[in-house]
Amino acid sequence: MKRINAQRLYNWCAAHTLQRNVPTLSSRDELPHWDVVVVGAGAAGLVAAERAAARGRRTLLLEKNRRAGVKILMSGGTRCNLTHATDARGIVAAYGPPGRFLHSALASLGPQELVALVEGEGVRTKIEDTGKVFPVSNRATDVLAAFLARLDRTDCELALDEPLLELAREGQGPFRLVTPKRTLLAEHVVITTGGQSYPGSGTTGDGYRWATALGHTLVPPRPALVPLTTSAAWVQSLQGVTVPDVQLRVVEPVAGSSFKTGDESASGATASSSSSAVSNLALLGKPAVAPKQGFETASNQPPPGEKPSQDASADKPRVLDTRRGSLLFAHFGLSGPVALDISRVVSGHPRPQSLRLEFDFLPDVKAAVLDEQLMTAAATAGKRQIVSLAPNAVPHRLLESLVRQAGLDGQQKGAELSKAGRAALVRAIKQTSIALVGTRGFGKAEVTAGGIPLAEVDSRTMESRVVPGLFLAGEVLDLDGPIGGYNFQAAFSTGWLAGLTA
Ligand SMILES: Cc1cc2nc3c(=O)[nH]c(=O)nc-3n(C[C@H](O)[C@H](O)[C@H](O)COP(=O)(O)OP(=O)(O)OC[C@H]3O[C@@H](n4cnc5c(N)ncnc54)[C@H](O)[C@@H]3O)c2cc1C
Repeated sequence: MKRINAQRLYNWCAAHTLQRNVPTLSSRDELPHWDVVVVGAGAAGLVAAERAAARGRRTLLLEKNRRAGVKILMSGGTRCNLTHATDARGIVAAYGPPGRFLHSALASLGPQELVALVEGEGVRTKIEDTGKVFPVSNRATDVLAAFLARLDRTDCELALDEPLLELAREGQGPFRLVTPKRTLLAEHVVITTGGQSYPGSGTTGDGYRWATALGHTLVPPRPALVPLTTSAAWVQSLQGVTVPDVQLRVVEPVAGSSFKTGDESASGATASSSSSAVSNLALLGKPAVAPKQGFETASNQPPPGEKPSQDASADKPRVLDTRRGSLLFAHFGLSGPVALDISRVVSGHPRPQSLRLEFDFLPDVKAAVLDEQLMTAAATAGKRQIVSLAPNAVPHRLLESLVRQAGLDGQQKGAELSKAGRAALVRAIKQTSIALVGTRGFGKAEVTAGGIPLAEVDSRTMESRVVPGLFLAGEVLDLDGPIGGYNFQAAFSTGWLAGLTA
């Protein structure tokens, strides 16, 4: 009797609401039974739900926020850098070795297909000099509207303001999901809840909790693409200054290292040539150099007057990562693409305060060449102040600061610049280093590094290898890419593949 009433009531509701995609009632316990429930209507979830529903799967998309795609709206300074002007191989390369995980996902939806899909909804796109792809309108709302329009053409039910609270499974039966409004069953569940950066936008790491409760392990989440903090006063005083092309190196001084640990220094006697410099292909819109996985030994020489250690290999600081791109000075430290890109080795380090950050403000000019340029400028324009002798690529305010750090008087005339003074200025421009404090944390991180280990997910389907029927896509996975549209591409591609298979 109870069952018949429940079924009648359910049928009536289904017929008298806008809900087009009607789940069946479970004969076992009379709960609505969906084929697929996608949890989280961000980049990955929107396409996963659309694909699943387009395949005829009765699909429900649950979203915690009152609106879908909040991070799409926030992204790229509200312009949405949706992908990068490269091919699938370029995307894979940008992720380094973990990028292999993306092969199948990118085969199902590569960057060209993603652009075509958005353009198919009437949103024209453009490629900027950096290789980043944006909508011509510069409006992230247009990108989101494109994905919502696609979703709207399916029978997927989009349930906004309805967070998933509990996800459980008994044996091999359906998943049981609890929201504040209902309890339901699902044959397949796709977790697309993102990471835990910008928690105010809805991403509070919920997916990690359910996945681990169901048997997954977790690579500890940490902030990535996040501004760096330092207490170096000269950095803070340059707030607002942008340098278009800087090479940064994060260096870990080792115990007994002769490396200076002061607050800031133009370190090193002779500026090394940038043997570990990253390719400037990244600046030209080509795939960025793969992130370094291991450590390499820094090429730093000991500062003047300091003897090299007996055991040079044990004594050398280690370079944890090298990146190149544009830099922004801020009141807390450093931001801009190059600082964000290098931040993951800082947030992933057990003692970020022990790390130093080295700047090369003229990465294309070798130290010896810069020394010669300064010598020539001093000889030909001896009446000009020292601060105006260096190449224009270094902004004036920054140069004034570097001249001071080199122990020089900025008002001094070029003709008065000694050989030692010139060497100090070259070091300041090419080898200044600062002590780091850390990063601005999850609150200001564009993505989360860490998450559900890739080895626990079948990259051909996005199905969990631990929990059959559970699918994971997007930032909830232990996969984070550099600045430039790579993170959205991975989210869209993995979400798309999950929607094709769930
Ligand atoms: C400020 C900022 C700017 C960015 N700019 C760019 C850019 O220009 N280009 C780029 O490639 N990347 C950018 N990113 C990164 C990009 O936004 C993410 O990598 C991408 O959004 C990840 O997609 P996702 O679908 O995995 O997760 P998200 O887009 O984070 O979506 C997860 C969704 O799950 C929902 N959710 C969480 N918990 C629950 C729950 N319990 N129940 C229901 N729903 C839940 C959340 O509310 C959210 O809507 C930026 C990030 C930030 C923060």
